[in-house]
Amino acid sequence: MSAPASTQFPSLESALKHFFGYDEFRLDQRAVIETFLNHQDCLVVMPTGGGKSLCYQLPSLLRLGIMVVVSPLIALMQDQVDALRNNGIAATFLNSSLNLADVRERERQLLAGEIKLLYVAPERLLSEGFWPFLSRLHQQVGISGFAIDEAHCVSEWGHDFRPEYRQLHQLRTSFPQVPMMALTATATTRVREDICQQLALQTPATFVASFNRPNLYYEVLPKDRQAYAHLLRHIKALTGAAIVYCLSRKHVEELASRLQQDGVAALPYHAGLSDDTRSEHQNRFIRDDVQVMVATIAFGMGINKPDVRLVAHYDLPRTLESYYQESGRAGRDGEPAHCTVYFGYGDVSLINYIIEQKADEQEQQIARQQLRQVLDYAESTVCRRQIQLSYFGEMFPGQCDRCDNCRYPKPLEDWTIEAQKFLSCVARCRERFGMVHIIDVLRGSQKKRILELQHDQLSTYGIGKDRSTEEWKLLGRSLLHQGLVEETTDGFPVLKLNGASWQVLRKQLVVQIAIPDTLKGGSEDSVETS
Ligand code: ADP
Ligand code: ZN
Repeated sequence: MSAPASTQFPSLESALKHFFGYDEFRLDQRAVIETFLNHQDCLVVMPTGGGKSLCYQLPSLLRLGIMVVVSPLIALMQDQVDALRNNGIAATFLNSSLNLADVRERERQLLAGEIKLLYVAPERLLSEGFWPFLSRLHQQVGISGFAIDEAHCVSEWGHDFRPEYRQLHQLRTSFPQVPMMALTATATTRVREDICQQLALQTPATFVASFNRPNLYYEVLPKDRQAYAHLLRHIKALTGAAIVYCLSRKHVEELASRLQQDGVAALPYHAGLSDDTRSEHQNRFIRDDVQVMVATIAFGMGINKPDVRLVAHYDLPRTLESYYQESGRAGRDGEPAHCTVYFGYGDVSLINYIIEQKADEQEQQIARQQLRQVLDYAESTVCRRQIQLSYFGEMFPGQCDRCDNCRYPKPLEDWTIEAQKFLSCVARCRERFGMVHIIDVLRGSQKKRILELQHDQLSTYGIGKDRSTEEWKLLGRSLLHQGLVEETTDGFPVLKLNGASWQVLRKQLVVQIAIPDTLKGGSEDSVETS
């Protein structure tokens, strides 16, 4: 039904120029738009700020009918719609912030064909009364496409699972001829597969843009007694703004006032502050009234301040995904910027504690795996960029020269003897236990479970007292990375030996590990929850 209205434009470029004033497409935009205009479902994966919106906005203007955009970001809808209207594009939104009269008026405009783009919150879309309206809209004006923004919300493996997103597959069933585009900045293979499956996309064309941000410098520093002084120095030497992320409101408040006392223009931002205070702080930060925003993860969704020169994580990020998003708020202008994590083992205990509070077993398992990935990043001695990008399924050769590990390679140490102790302990425990237990045995722990299992009788009991738990963990993880031991999960992770493990035990292989600076980090660091 939707005959292209695009005949008036000789090329997609001229349409882009006409509606948005841009000269060229970015990343995969052009290919996505062409594919979508050909009525094919699309999965679009692009980093935040990459220009996803244009992928459905431009097609909406080149087709008859209405593009329906499903977005969970109610707070941003007004801004998005205002921005489009300022460009002369007829857009509107429907969500719970509107009163009934407003809703009726907007529905009238829609049915009269006065609108090209409709933004709608998922709960509204799925509400009972809306479905008949949508069908009517399709009959009267035609729906040119569905765009599902933040599509990772359908996946439990994403960072923002919203069960109601699962019902969006009804769109595919009820409007089989209308093309659908799913968009996200989350690119793990697992989430991607989930999106295609849950939304029931039909042989979707998948577009994945590179997530590499070449202008960002990544580093991980020990969260020891000097960490605060280091942060302060860095901020004072900075020409430009900084965001410092903490895990809890309490940490945010403490760090913000400490920085203020030390003469830095800093403000706190977290969900415990009133809406007014939050937006005041945000505005002052955007206007460069204050230099530093000390914030929980509540901060940053949708803010676009191009000249942030430093994003520091004073507490460990929750997931590698969220780290990528949060650190990605640095250097949006393409100029060099720093992304620093202060890493101490105290944070690991805190996050473990938070995980244990989760009621759902599967959630716990996912959270554990996510923590593990963050630790892999923090403790790693290989290119940080390579780790991040491989998390997004992207091959990156390493040697980026823009991360601490590439710039200052860590010397390797021979830990063959330790590796032999570790692996023989795995063997003595009959390959039925996880890393924590193995390390307990090595370090001669008196835990009840050890005694009950009579693992204090094993020949490897207490042979590793000379090394700290953290050192053993580092070794264990390094052995896993190097494929010198394996981990299976039967509900919980269990270490198993493989061929390479036996080569180490038979002294046929030397084990070298790089000792990160963070191992010197403060495990005495006291961390509170709030
Ligand atoms: P995302 O949704 O992927 O985070 P947006 O769609 O908000 O990103 O786009 C980020 C910014 O880039 C916006 O200001 C947008 O206007 C701009 N933009 C998008 N496409 C282009 C383009 N082809 N040329 C120049 N700027 C663009
Ligand atoms: Zn690197």
